[in-house]
Amino acid sequence: ATMVKETIRVYARVKPLGRRQQAGIYSVDNDEKSLSSLEIIVPRDLADGFVNNKRESYKFKFQKIFDQEAKQDVVFDSVAKPVAECVLAGYNGTIFAYGQTGSGKTFTITGGAERYSDRGIIPRTLSYIFDQLQKDSSKVYTTHVSYLEIYNECGYDLLDSRHEASRLEDMPKVTIMEDPDQNIHLKNLSLQQATNEEEALNLLFLGDTNRMIAETPMNQASTRSHCIFTIHISSKEPGSATIRHSKLHLVDLAGSERVAKTGVGGHLLTEAKYINLSLHYLEQVIIALAEKNRSHIPYRNSMMTSVLRDSLGGNCMTTMIATLSIDKRNIDESISTCRFAQRVALIKNEAVLNEEIDPRLMIVQLKKEIQELKDELALVTGKQRTSELSQEELLQLDELIEAFLEDNDPDSILDVGVDMRKIKYCFVHLKQLMNHSKISDKKLLSQHNSNKKDSNKEAGEEELKKLKELLQQRDNEINILVNMLKKEEKKAQDAVFHLNDAFAGSTVLEQSPSVNLEERKSPSSSFSLKEANDFSSSVHRLTFLSRETGGKMSLGCQEAFEVFKRDHADSITIDDNNQLLKQRFAEAKCLGEKLNEVRNKINHLKGKITQRHIQRAALAVSSPSEELNTLDPVEEKLRTQIEEEKKSYKTMFNRLKELKLEIEHLQLLMEKVKVKLQKDFEVWWSEEAINLQQEKPEMISSTNTMTVYPQFIKSVQHLSTNSFSETTRVNPNEDSAGKNNSITSSNPSLKARTPPSSSTSIPLTGDSQADADILAFIKARQNILQKKG
Ligand code: ADP
Ligand code: MG
Repeated sequence: ATMVKETIRVYARVKPLGRRQQAGIYSVDNDEKSLSSLEIIVPRDLADGFVNNKRESYKFKFQKIFDQEAKQDVVFDSVAKPVAECVLAGYNGTIFAYGQTGSGKTFTITGGAERYSDRGIIPRTLSYIFDQLQKDSSKVYTTHVSYLEIYNECGYDLLDSRHEASRLEDMPKVTIMEDPDQNIHLKNLSLQQATNEEEALNLLFLGDTNRMIAETPMNQASTRSHCIFTIHISSKEPGSATIRHSKLHLVDLAGSERVAKTGVGGHLLTEAKYINLSLHYLEQVIIALAEKNRSHIPYRNSMMTSVLRDSLGGNCMTTMIATLSIDKRNIDESISTCRFAQRVALIKNEAVLNEEIDPRLMIVQLKKEIQELKDELALVTGKQRTSELSQEELLQLDELIEAFLEDNDPDSILDVGVDMRKIKYCFVHLKQLMNHSKISDKKLLSQHNSNKKDSNKEAGEEELKKLKELLQQRDNEINILVNMLKKEEKKAQDAVFHLNDAFAGSTVLEQSPSVNLEERKSPSSSFSLKEANDFSSSVHRLTFLSRETGGKMSLGCQEAFEVFKRDHADSITIDDNNQLLKQRFAEAKCLGEKLNEVRNKINHLKGKITQRHIQRAALAVSSPSEELNTLDPVEEKLRTQIEEEKKSYKTMFNRLKELKLEIEHLQLLMEKVKVKLQKDFEVWWSEEAINLQQEKPEMISSTNTMTVYPQFIKSVQHLSTNSFSETTRVNPNEDSAGKNNSITSSNPSLKARTPPSSSTSIPLTGDSQADADILAFIKARQNILQKKG
């Protein structure tokens, strides 16, 4: 097998630092020809204490350094594209991001949650791979994805549908199994087939959402766990039994932050320890690999190093991105990250082409070959069997021939097996049928049976030749017809496909009258604008809250969620993206309509050409002239017009395709933001509840003590002010007592909400938490009304 030996490529990416940029802390020297270098300069005031070393500057070499301005597409092109290409060729690949929390690992690997242009390496790689697969018709490709999260040495399948309903602890754990050849297999990790970019993206977002759902402030999964998104590709040439498998791991590691260990007497120790234990094991593996002549590499110490065994010192093209957030506070972490990167850069990997022969396919292939050889042998030797065909066999053959002649299917064949006697019999039989086509089949058959023995051999051979020719002719005709049929079918399919594609974007918006919606076959584009707009009727939210609150969502909780939603910073993103989505939809719809117009125009022009033909033909008959035999300039002009229209059709069509992808991505982003919002609320809500129970335990049981919950005052105040002061945003975690008290008597929403009078008996649910919520809410309203006057 082909082998490629290469050291791990190591890149660095510096995160933008925003307003408070600290100039002069580092410098980048991106040399076009050789490696680039990054110099980190330790400020004088830090050099003495923080970093336990008097050096003032540190230099590190990287394949390339992406400075703060570097955009996602550039990072993809230089880091991920070459790896993706190797994977397409049948090699394994890995890209992993390493760096402290907040340095941009997730941003680089998955992407930002706000802008389409911020999508990271995973979505871009998927897009690239599926594009390439589509272009290559020489092979049959199958793609699967898996998404593994490793938290606390346990693996979880992020694509497992049970995530929605259960806690992380209750999820089935992914475990490692080693086969006799020391290959790693992961039990309980699902491989989901993805036949196109859209399906793969949906899976990515599903996994990200599941990860978010499972995260709690306690486990902080997003900084303490590793995520491995894997694209599995297998390819096969048609007719070949050789299969190529390759895997691309895209890895978002846990935050690499360390604790500086203080030794006896308060002295700083040189070795700072990882917070994350499995990163410690990763470092050990890397140290071992970088050392010469080390025979034992401690892969087995942790789940992550086991899973990534091939990616580190094994059969893989591996690339690392060191993400850096170089400001004064993070200087020691940044130096640690770079040091780690330098060690990784020493590791050599050997990527081999992963080819294997499928035994089942091999058997099928060999059987076919044997059969073909047998046939050939029988034909070449012309070896006759001595015994005559039995009466039964003859009858069987007659039936076969009859069935064959009656079968209208152009693909039907007359298969009598490898027996020259039978083949000859069939030819003779067919000849007779040809010669006596007027006589009824039945009669002929019986006649033939009785006359068989008398048939003249000489004449028979000549007849046979004729018959053969005739058959050949028929065959050709049939082939031509079949091809025509196929072409027609394909045309029809293409038309449907184009319609689907072109209008998948616009049809989900509003039914464009010019498009036949019934023709949309694909159920996969399952989003609609209605859905995208409808943020409150979310199924997610209900499953969420009900999971956390044990099935009960009290009135107060619902109200609070509405307010929370409005105040939450993410709702800005939602609004912005919603706006953008609407714009894109409108654009898509407009394009769709334009496309329709152009198509109609083309059809119209075609009609004109046909008319022209008819006219000229008629003219040629009535008054023949020289001129009519030359090229028709009018027709030429029409044709040029058609070509132009086709060109613009193509441009618009491509734009529409792009738009469709962007729209889908935006929708997924919004879905994600939505889930996050619900989650944040959930956390906030339960924290508030705990705080309250600690402060005022009597609230739960007593209905007389009408203590007012501060957050409900806030909620109610905000409910009432929100409608006319758009700019006020309340952070639910702040204590906003005394803030935002602008309740005016002109507030219309207060009038609409009639508070129950204090004498009314309040229907309580019997559930203490829910009751407390309701009571608090009512009390809060009363309070406001009192203030109001
Ligand atoms: P990590 O995954 O390493 O903890 P994140 O990727 O979550 O870090 O990044 C932290 C924050 O910084 C996020 O809000 C992210 O959007 C932002 N960020 C990181 N890198 C970049 C970048 N190159 N450009 C713009 N924003 C970035
Ligand atoms: Mg992260």
